[in-house]
Amino acid sequence: MATLDDNDRAIYEWQIWVEDFGEAGQQKLKDASILVSRVGGLGSVVAYELAAAGVGRLVLAHAGNVKPSDLNRQLLMTHDWLGKPRIESVERRLHDLNPRLETVAVGENVSEDNAERLVSEVDLVVDCAPLFEERFLMNREAVRQNKPMVECAMFDLQAQITSIVPGETPCLTCLFPEKPPAWKRQFPVFGAVSGSVGCMAAMEAIKLIAGFGEPLRGKLLTYDLRSMSFRTLSVSRRSDCSVCSRCP
Ligand SMILES: [Zn+2]
Repeated sequence: MATLDDNDRAIYEWQIWVEDFGEAGQQKLKDASILVSRVGGLGSVVAYELAAAGVGRLVLAHAGNVKPSDLNRQLLMTHDWLGKPRIESVERRLHDLNPRLETVAVGENVSEDNAERLVSEVDLVVDCAPLFEERFLMNREAVRQNKPMVECAMFDLQAQITSIVPGETPCLTCLFPEKPPAWKRQFPVFGAVSGSVGCMAAMEAIKLIAGFGEPLRGKLLTYDLRSMSFRTLSVSRRSDCSVCSRCP
């Protein structure tokens, strides 16, 4: 692993000043590899913040081409890239910000064919997929491979986020044993809502990798930006969970 150099110290100076993070935390970010599953409204902001913070390597998975309806919230997609692969737009924008970032661009969404391999390549997963099929797959692989996963979602002006640490906290299937019946792929949302929870997810990932602060372990933060009300709920593992109950 490359150690921090003068360039790192110059770029990350202001966050290295965070006392319980410091140079040791920055080194952990530089050594880290993180998967962002779907780099849309949520994942664009997560990936941008992680690239800005100096995470060494990002594995990015997202299929499809940029559409006009992406542009209100998918901040790594740009007008000049309409009709071209989203993942190329994502990679280009991240390298404009941080040319030293190593990226692995996967032009596919998470599926049974790639989930195991994608999770095996990283230290931590940030799950930003809108569909429960993909979210359940990421959860299963993260638990199976004992990798922490930050789980976040939004709808309308509401959002929720938790951090899953296998063997310690509830997993996504503990919280949602079944796919919620009303859940849809397309839904109302502002970019400022997905961006707000994307920033929090990036901060959770940074805390989990660097080992400081208090991540949302066994806690679910839900909020509604319509009324600016925030609640943190304690959540528990299910002893009969089909995914994590076999986990030691
Ligand atoms: Zn579980």
